[in-house]
Amino acid sequence: MKDELLTNRAWVEINLKNLEHNIREIKKIISPKAKIMAVVKANAYGHDLVKIGQKLNKIGIYDFAVATLEEGIKLRENDVSGNILIFGYTRPDLLKYVVKYDLIQTVVDEEYAKKIMQLPFEKIKVYLKINTGMNRIGINSDNVLFIKSLYTSNNNLNIIGIYSHLCSSTSNDFEDVAFTKLQINKFNQVIDYLKSNKINIGKTHLQSSYGFLNYNDLEYDYVRIGILIYGNYNDNDTYAKLHLDLKPVLSLYARIVSVRDIEKGEIVGYSRTYQASKKEKIATVSIGYVDGYPRSVGDSNVYVKVNGKYALVIGRICMDQLVINVTDIPNVKEGDIVTLIGDDKEISAENISSKLKTISPELFGRLGNRLNYIFIDN
Ligand SMILES: *Cc1c(COP(=O)(O)O)cnc(C)c1O
Repeated sequence: MKDELLTNRAWVEINLKNLEHNIREIKKIISPKAKIMAVVKANAYGHDLVKIGQKLNKIGIYDFAVATLEEGIKLRENDVSGNILIFGYTRPDLLKYVVKYDLIQTVVDEEYAKKIMQLPFEKIKVYLKINTGMNRIGINSDNVLFIKSLYTSNNNLNIIGIYSHLCSSTSNDFEDVAFTKLQINKFNQVIDYLKSNKINIGKTHLQSSYGFLNYNDLEYDYVRIGILIYGNYNDNDTYAKLHLDLKPVLSLYARIVSVRDIEKGEIVGYSRTYQASKKEKIATVSIGYVDGYPRSVGDSNVYVKVNGKYALVIGRICMDQLVINVTDIPNVKEGDIVTLIGDDKEISAENISSKLKTISPELFGRLGNRLNYIFIDN
């Protein structure tokens, strides 16, 4: 697409220098023995899988995690090198692609391990996922004999390592902390059992972003970092013991398409949810919920920024457009740029997520295919 078309209507700007900065910040508090595994699932949280992967390679990151086989293949087809772990399930008949593209498959449970071992591969790289209480995926942590047998029996598994996942690391509530400690203990017990049986277990990891911030003294081979590398926290309120000086990588922009005055009592938008309480100036903006700007923003007291000032989003978000109140902003005109997500507390992904009762990974991850992407690297 021609450059001038990219900013016609609604676009994302990705600042790769900020990504670099965030990696530096994370490295300041990482254990000297541990490495970052960059989590780039869901199109790198809406930041563009390929561009983020390539940039991370350039700054020395060679460990990645994706959710799906297709994401792993996409990284490889765009020359991203290093280890690529697939967190999620891959259909057994498609595991040949894991081998072909030199990816690493997660063993999602006992049955899955048995199925893989029946497949006619010479070797397939896998990580064993251990279920320590979240009960989503993983081999149960008390099934140590089975886990041991995967290492020691003559099979086609090339076990790169072993990992688990914390489900309450975002809380400092007493019971949540107790549960997390239980999970840590269960994971360590599996590791200790295998080590006491003289098994070379490979790599270990347990923490994602909040596990890293809130249980920073844990020492495994990797920390699996998603949201923090994109320069964001989940929302305003989630407990974080440590704070990093992060810079948001993503900004979201659109344009003013029309400005009009309405009288007191006039309505705006579908279902007439907004009614002017006085004479007001409003403006229509060229982005809608299909672009991934959530429909739930409608009537949620969310602001955007235009000409350096905040404007409230009013009425329902439409499929391709939305309306803002610009009564107190002088000189707003057709073509002006509107910032919907940006490096500013009010319009930060955290703040918007808090207002929508979600977390920034969902907000980012839903940013739609129709948005254009611009990359800044200087
Ligand atoms: C998504 C995911 C992560 C990264 O989570 P963040 O909170 O974004 O750091 C880490 N581990 C697993 C297993 C995940 O699914």
